Amino acid sequence: MTEALQVKNPATGELVEEVRINTEEEILEALKKGNAAFKKWSKMNAHERSRLLKKWADRIQKEKEEIAKIMTLESGKPINESLGEVDYATSYIDWYAEEAKRIYGRTIPANSESKRIVVTRQPVGLVAAITPWNFPAAMMTRKAAPALAAGCTFIVKPAEETPLTTIKLIELAHEVGIPEDAIQCVIGYGSEVGKIFTESEYVRKITFTGSTPVGKHLIKNSADTVKHVSMELGGHAPLIIAEDADIDFVVTQTIASKFRNAGQTCICANRVLVHENIADEFSSKLTKEVLKLKVGNGLEKRTQVGPVINVKGFDKVMSQIHDAKEKGAEVLCGNQFDADREAGYFFIHPTVLKNVSENMKIMQEETFGPVVPITTFKDIKEAVQIANGTPYGLAAYFFTNDYRTGTFLHENLDFGIVGWNDGAPSTAQAPFGGMKESGLGREGGIEGIEPYLETKYLSVGGI
Ligand code: ADP
Repeated sequence: MTEALQVKNPATGELVEEVRINTEEEILEALKKGNAAFKKWSKMNAHERSRLLKKWADRIQKEKEEIAKIMTLESGKPINESLGEVDYATSYIDWYAEEAKRIYGRTIPANSESKRIVVTRQPVGLVAAITPWNFPAAMMTRKAAPALAAGCTFIVKPAEETPLTTIKLIELAHEVGIPEDAIQCVIGYGSEVGKIFTESEYVRKITFTGSTPVGKHLIKNSADTVKHVSMELGGHAPLIIAEDADIDFVVTQTIASKFRNAGQTCICANRVLVHENIADEFSSKLTKEVLKLKVGNGLEKRTQVGPVINVKGFDKVMSQIHDAKEKGAEVLCGNQFDADREAGYFFIHPTVLKNVSENMKIMQEETFGPVVPITTFKDIKEAVQIANGTPYGLAAYFFTNDYRTGTFLHENLDFGIVGWNDGAPSTAQAPFGGMKESGLGREGGIEGIEPYLETKYLSVGGI
């Protein structure tokens, strides 16, 4: 009997589709083919690779509505956000279709008239990617696009919860003429496929978006064959509101940052730190707006907050709320749910917590759910100390119109992505990635193609 993944709609618990799991032999064969295809794909001229990537991007845009629907069905994401994600995913392909043509080397003056020094770049080889369920399209394209642009071949294992979007996108890549073995998708469980990927001598690079423990495991397992690794791991983003901030604007940005994908993004504001003199005004204005958010099935156009992905996510979020309440937090709104363990759907109503302190789990761990914990600070140095007091260093946000406060925060926050009066910083042309235990490497921008390139130094003598 062949095993299959049961892809279920997190809004209803209903089966969307069964997807056959690939056997170990099939995955090994795919790796072999990916490695063989590298010889041809890496030698294709960059303009041709660029043209194929553009065709892929155009094709995805043509099928935008259908892809978005698949994404909402398997992830629970509100349909407007799924449509936005298709655009966001496409923007990485567009961007790297251009960057493919700009992979430059250099020459270096030698210290002898008879020598020349030349530096060239070449693709690392077959790249294996493991992607999460929260952005099933964009987390794949922001790896596949720079990999293919650089001349690498690519194989991806999507998350068990959301394989359908990835399968569809890879089908479209093949339909526009990207060779079948240059971009492949395999289906299976993370730990099993991860083991095959990391042990394979064909794979020269592992690129991963997901949790920090799994990332650490993949880094360790990549050591035996000294693979390149890129890691986009967990976050625990602080959102700092200085005393002079424009509170109404901060409310809109906090909602944009916190409730996107029901709070299930690694750069969601996870801890709100507000100056004590404006805490009451901010908390009540935020609560008023949060109460207006429409919770429901993502297929309904008016839905703004969908379900959390599964029971594991639900239990984690509810235990953080419970822990915070036990330790003295005040619930301003939310802390209600509409969930059925048997049917398999889990909606958590947007929740705002006040009087949150550092000893609560919600201030120590990533939440991945629609909960805003609010704590206060007296001066900006204290805010930085609280913000940096975590092993994570992915995204941080701050709101101030004072340039000295802003400069101080920019220079002292230990995070790879910083939003100054901006709760939505992600974009294809900028380097996304974390410091400390939030990751290694960057995706997007000119930095995002670097991890797919080797440097070769040529020294010519006897001239
Ligand atoms: P989450 O708990 O949010 O699902 P994970 O880090 O477990 O986050 O999942 C992200 C991706 O990592 C998924 O594609 C999953 O299948 C994969 N994964 C999970 N465990 C492992 C593992 N041990 N090795 C490799 N990949 C894994």
